[in-house]
Amino acid sequence: MTDRYAVFGNPIAHSLSPLIHRLFAQQTGQDLCYEAILAPLDAFAATVARFIAEGGRGANVTVPFKEEAFRLCDETSPRARLAQAVNTLVFNDGRIYGDNTDGIGLVRDLKHNLAATIAGQHVLLLGAGGAARGVIGPLLAEKPAELFIANRTASRAEHLAAQFGGVCRGGSFAALAGRRFSLVLNATSAGLINSPLPLPDDIFAPDVLAYEMVYGRTTPFMQRAQAAGCRVSDGLGMLVEQAAEAFFLWRGVRPETAPVLAALRSHTQSAHQGASGVNS
Ligand code: NAP
Repeated sequence: MTDRYAVFGNPIAHSLSPLIHRLFAQQTGQDLCYEAILAPLDAFAATVARFIAEGGRGANVTVPFKEEAFRLCDETSPRARLAQAVNTLVFNDGRIYGDNTDGIGLVRDLKHNLAATIAGQHVLLLGAGGAARGVIGPLLAEKPAELFIANRTASRAEHLAAQFGGVCRGGSFAALAGRRFSLVLNATSAGLINSPLPLPDDIFAPDVLAYEMVYGRTTPFMQRAQAAGCRVSDGLGMLVEQAAEAFFLWRGVRPETAPVLAALRSHTQSAHQGASGVNS
């Protein structure tokens, strides 16, 4: 019988995950189907329970359910516990195991697809929401010289930095005046509403890699970085890499991401022009 997987979110209609996992399954010869399921905002747990009862083997979870998914799990990975959020569920023998592959997805995209160095670098992470929290642990594991978290609500960044400790610091956007970083990672959702971030000019320089986690659109952050001569990337590679890690957890097979990323690039250019890449 074909194994069933799904992504749960709200909204979910524009999710690229079914296409990504269909391409992974074709490439690796795995017999599975993968669908996008809209979970009502007040019925995430019931929607997951129904899917398990119908024989579901695993799932991805996206906005706004990642924290609720974490609480639903019987067992979680260390990286999920660091993030306090889960984007991948494995259903086995009536138990739910949860993992968070967003951070490793970002790190793989940076290192393998974009040939970026994190070790020894000064890294700026913009945002202190779920996406930021999910990537801090895996970024710190790469041993940057510094990880500065800046957020519109500075106290959230300071709180996160204090929780992770080590080379983490936190503060406001204004605290970035006069600072330089080689890697600037935008984990805010400001780009989804075309809102510019009040960042000092110094942040954008030609030797900077400016990475936007939003995908499928050119955000004001990307436009500003491009105008300053930075190397710029959106978050499509992160999306594909986090999916590959989930696929590996479920199937024990690691798909090649490069051909899938290339296929997605042409798909999003034709189908998503001007649309938002809100969810996984
Ligand atoms: P979230 O938990 O709602 O957090 C949103 C963050 O953005 C907060 O830090 C918030 O600051 C900040 N923000 C929102 N609007 C802003 C504005 N106008 N100006 C400045 N800061 C603003 O969302 P999330 O789950 O962290 O997701 C963030 C983004 O990452 C989303 O766009 C999502 O699509 C993307 N993402 C991409 C991938 C991928 O695979 N590519 C994976 C995960 C997430 P305050 O604290 O001040 O409110």
